[in-house]
Amino acid sequence: MAIITSPKSELIEFNDLFIEMSKKTCNLKCKHCYIDFSNEKSIKNFLPLETIKECLRDLKGENLKYIHLTGAEPMLHPDFNTILRYCLKYTSTVIHTNGYSINDKKARFLKKVEEENNKNNEIIMKLSLEHYDERTNDEIRGRGSYRKCLHSVQSLLKYGFNPLITVVNHFNEDEKQMRQKLKELFETIGFITEDININIIPLINKKEFAETGEQEMVYKNLDCSFGRTLAINGVYNCLLNTDDYRGRSGSDFKNYSKRAMLDSPACSYCMKSHKQLFGINFTDRE
Ligand code: SF4
Repeated sequence: MAIITSPKSELIEFNDLFIEMSKKTCNLKCKHCYIDFSNEKSIKNFLPLETIKECLRDLKGENLKYIHLTGAEPMLHPDFNTILRYCLKYTSTVIHTNGYSINDKKARFLKKVEEENNKNNEIIMKLSLEHYDERTNDEIRGRGSYRKCLHSVQSLLKYGFNPLITVVNHFNEDEKQMRQKLKELFETIGFITEDININIIPLINKKEFAETGEQEMVYKNLDCSFGRTLAINGVYNCLLNTDDYRGRSGSDFKNYSKRAMLDSPACSYCMKSHKQLFGINFTDRE
């Protein structure tokens, strides 16, 4: 009888802690969003500061390079500023945001918070945009969202940030061309990008498996190879699987699995793309 085994990944080094600050609260409703949320503003939908503190105590001793604050929209968490300051005491912190809360005043405030921490840990702003074409972007993300993103980038540049941009490849376009068009777009607002600034990720369908062809049995270059995600109801292999039992690693960081079986539909897209989708792709890992 043939034994069917799943592809898997092992946690190589714990560099990236993703914190899903809120599962349900966002100020946009993008058509493709992988989060199935109701936009309730109930306090029970926000990860409590105490849980984050406990998690960071449990991870003492790991080589954490980045804490990623994610959502839905992390900047809507009522304790966002306190959590950000707390995380910066540990390591550099990446804010994955739609950028709607960012204007000159907010960018100035964030720079002040960054400068307050005496360990030289950085705040890294990671914004999302759907397309280099305004109309296409706004059809997916909502009217005005394209201009809002560009204005947010300008505010961040004004206060010395070097924003990273995540773009979903909705129409399976050639990545090289997409990157070039995005580069040209950002040049028009004075933002000279390098490859690290633009992260193009595939469109993920969490209900259907992607056609993968031949798979490797062990993956070493995905988000689940370099970190885990803390969510309201436990620890998961990555951000894409926080509502899927197949991606669960444990209930907390005292006892969680360092091995991930890559069985979910989201995993099939991720394995195909062969890269970290949400972490920062360090060149020394490629
Ligand atoms: S979606 Fe990707 S990063 Fe997440 S567990 Fe699956 S293969 Fe790993």
